[in-house]
Parts: sequence; structure tokens; C-alpha cells
Amino acid sequence: MSENLGLYIHIPFCGKKCPYCGFYSVPYRKDAVRLYCSELENKIRLCGKRFSSRVADTIYIGGGTPSIIGDRALIGILESIYDSFSCCDPEVTIEVNPSSGSMLDFAALRRSGVNRVSIGMQSAVESELKLLQRRHTREDVKRLVYNVKDAGIDNVSIDLMCCIPNQSLETLGESIEFCCSLDVSHISSYMLSIEEGTAFYGIKDSLKLANEDEEKQMYLYMCRQLEKHGYAQYEISNFAKKGYESKNNLKYWNCDDYLGIGPSAHSLIDKKRFYFGESLDDFYSGKILFEPDGGSPEEYSMLRLRLTEGLRGDLYRERFGTEIPSEYISRALKLEKHGLVKVDGERIRLTPNGFLLSNAVTARILWD
Ligand code: SF4
Repeated sequence: MSENLGLYIHIPFCGKKCPYCGFYSVPYRKDAVRLYCSELENKIRLCGKRFSSRVADTIYIGGGTPSIIGDRALIGILESIYDSFSCCDPEVTIEVNPSSGSMLDFAALRRSGVNRVSIGMQSAVESELKLLQRRHTREDVKRLVYNVKDAGIDNVSIDLMCCIPNQSLETLGESIEFCCSLDVSHISSYMLSIEEGTAFYGIKDSLKLANEDEEKQMYLYMCRQLEKHGYAQYEISNFAKKGYESKNNLKYWNCDDYLGIGPSAHSLIDKKRFYFGESLDDFYSGKILFEPDGGSPEEYSMLRLRLTEGLRGDLYRERFGTEIPSEYISRALKLEKHGLVKVDGERIRLTPNGFLLSNAVTARILWD
């Protein structure tokens, strides 16, 4: 029987480095993109042969900035995937930056199978966009959402950033209201973290960053507001209208198999974790690095606790043939008294307050 596989394709090019971004990216250059796409298509073909027994049920083109390479290049990549892999009604997502989204032909992308678009908006407040050095306005985002929907793609996600320097509950609320007014189906909301090596790291002392209490307030406010507008939280940072949870992202939290192709793209297949080297040269030379095996009961439990559905006894039993360790339940019961966890029979899940301390709470449940 064929097993399913999620495919992730990484496009490392960006127009300009954002000051908060710690991801590997390279400046956009037309000739570099041409070379990259041809190497990418070679690798897709090789991987298709290597994993010919697998059926791709999700395809995600992320970055970097996939939209910067244009619709023809994106369609070329999708065609080489369809030529190389068996696919079964896949969820096909592309990440789109509002500053390059206007040049895309979404009707053509839809004909090539794209049925989900994820938009990197971050904020709908002009002063925050300026501080983040984003090169788009809220009007660009609005136009983009209309264009995508007009092309018949109704599954639209927006990335929203929480705890931007100087952000208040009021401006966060403004961004939330803006997303809801566009009636998108999915919202991912990440807290800004200042990573070493980024431009923000160099000026962090001059940035007015949220303190712990403010972070907590903003996160809980965001969860409440999104819930009020019909977006159910299904993961620490992800919210969706019913039936629009990201199938691609769920693979990561369920320890299901996925294959990443591109510099620094990670994979988990048959419990083996590996990734392509981080630079373009490493990718071109086919350098693969291996990590410790994945998908262990502990790792599965840790990732499942990121989901609002939590760690479920029935699914755990189905996967590992045993019960959830009883010590997990007894430790979780202690945390339940503090409002951080809910235990219903053989299911453990974190509450919104628990999500705020998710690393510590998960560690207490699994390893106390
Ligand atoms: S566009 Fe995205 S990947 Fe590129 S630098 Fe900005 S945040 Fe990083």
C-alpha cells in the first residue's frame, strides 16, 4: 500500500532582507533564479524516483519569497512535481508576499493545482509595516486577497505578527479586524522573537519590545478575538475556520512523513530526519545532513501537545501499540490545578495559558 507524503519546496530568494528574519535567504537575481529552478527540477525528479512508492497529498512552496520568482517559474516547479510524483488530490499552497503578489496570474496558478495561498502580511498598521521594513501597504494585501479569491482560490491564510515593537492591544486589534474583514480562512500568528544575527538584534536595546506580561496579554487577546470571529485555534500559533486547518502543517505536528527540497529544507521519512545543506552550493552539490531519528513516542507527544486537540490516547495507541505513559497523565493532572493543562480521560491538552509557557509545560509533562 502506498503511503502519503507531504512535499515542501523551498524558494530561498527575497527582494530585501527583513530586519527580524533569521532564515537563510539570498538576494533575488533573475539569472540565479533560472539556475535554481533548473537544479530544483532535477532534484524533484531524483526524489520522485527515490520515493516512487509514495503519494503526495500536500505540496507547499515556501520561502524566502516564492512569489518573487513569478507564476511561470512556480507553474514549472508544480509541473515537475506532477511528472515525478504520484499525487492524490493534494492541498497545494504557495506563499505570497504582498509586494510581489500583484504580478502573479492566480487563475493560471489555480489551473496548475494551487488551491491555497498564504500571505505574509504581518501587520495591517502602516507604522508597524514601516518599522518591519515591509514593502507593502494594507491596501496591497486587500487587493491581493480579492485577486486570489476572484481567481477561485478560496483557501487564503494570512500571517500576522504579534509583539511587534511599539505594538499595542489597539493596533493588534486593528490588524486582527482587518484580516477578519477580508474573510480569510486561516490565520497564523507568530510572536516576534529577536534572533541573533538579524538587524533587529543589533538594535534590540533601542526597540520598545513587549515585556512578559504584555506578551501574555497580547497572545490571550488575539486568541479571544480570533475565536470571536469564528477562527478556532488548532495549534499554538494557528487559527482556522472549520475545515480549513493547514493539512501541510498538521503533518509536522503529527510526525507524518514529509520531504523538503531546497537549501536547509528538512525531511522526516520512515523515522529518518535529514535536510539539505543550507547554502545554494550545498544544495546544488546534493549535500544531505542527517539528524537523530524522529517520530519517537516522546517527540510525537511533544509535537501533539502543540495542538489544541492535544495528545490523544487512541491515536497514541494506534501509532505505538501502547497506552500514553501513566506518568504523563499524573504530571499533567498536577498542572491542571494551575490552569495550564486539561486532562479528559486519556487525553492531555494545553490551555491558552499553558500555550504561553508551552516549552516549560511540555517538559514538565514529559520529563519532570
Ligand atoms: S521576506 Fe520572509 S524570508 Fe524573506 S527576509 Fe523577509 S521574512 Fe525573511
